[in-house]
Amino acid sequence: MIRSVVETPIAVSTLVRDRAKQHLRVILQRMTRGRMLWRGPAHLRRVALTFDDGPHLLTPRYLDVLGRAGVPATFFLTGLFAENQPAMVAEYLRGGHQLASHGFHHTRFTRLRPDQLRDELSRTARALGPLPQGRWVRPPHGSFGPVDVTTLLVSGYTVGMWSLDSRDYDGSTPAVIAARCAPAHVQPGEVILFHEGQEDTLAALPVVIDELRGAGYELVTMADLFAR
Ligand SMILES: [Zn+2]
Repeated sequence: MIRSVVETPIAVSTLVRDRAKQHLRVILQRMTRGRMLWRGPAHLRRVALTFDDGPHLLTPRYLDVLGRAGVPATFFLTGLFAENQPAMVAEYLRGGHQLASHGFHHTRFTRLRPDQLRDELSRTARALGPLPQGRWVRPPHGSFGPVDVTTLLVSGYTVGMWSLDSRDYDGSTPAVIAARCAPAHVQPGEVILFHEGQEDTLAALPVVIDELRGAGYELVTMADLFAR
């Protein structure tokens, strides 16, 4: 009893904060006319798997798992790593995946002046080369403010955020990561955040794919999820 009395206010405040966040996302998605995106259409049973921070030594194994399952995903690449591994950039594209920018140095965009941010964007764009789905970006750490978002939108980028965080960076086991992305926690239009370079994510991935498909979800790139 004592426990529930202590926990209730925390649960309520978390709920209120999460609701407020959801509302803000919906408003921003509308205000930017779909140039800043968290969640795809709810009327189609589709989900997008997204991976940040590559390329990495483990990338070929990620591509192998996705390739075997025939799942196209979206990779938000760090420009510096991409510049150093052009062959890997070609490999993602050969696998039918969508590539997008995650900044050049993984510096928070909120800490950059507009000219510095434009420089990060153009250097990363050069490293990625021409992309069939156009220019997409995900701000490092998901942090953004009005000035940097304006720079991104004016520069022609679609800002691809996410709606479900697998929290695969917190040392969780593959089973825990997979459980967080299980169909019970997923809704149509979900954009799931994962990271590259993580053995645990790699181990969770086949389970996540199997379970989502088993629940009737089609797995698509972010560009396809939001295609009009
Ligand atoms: Zn990142």
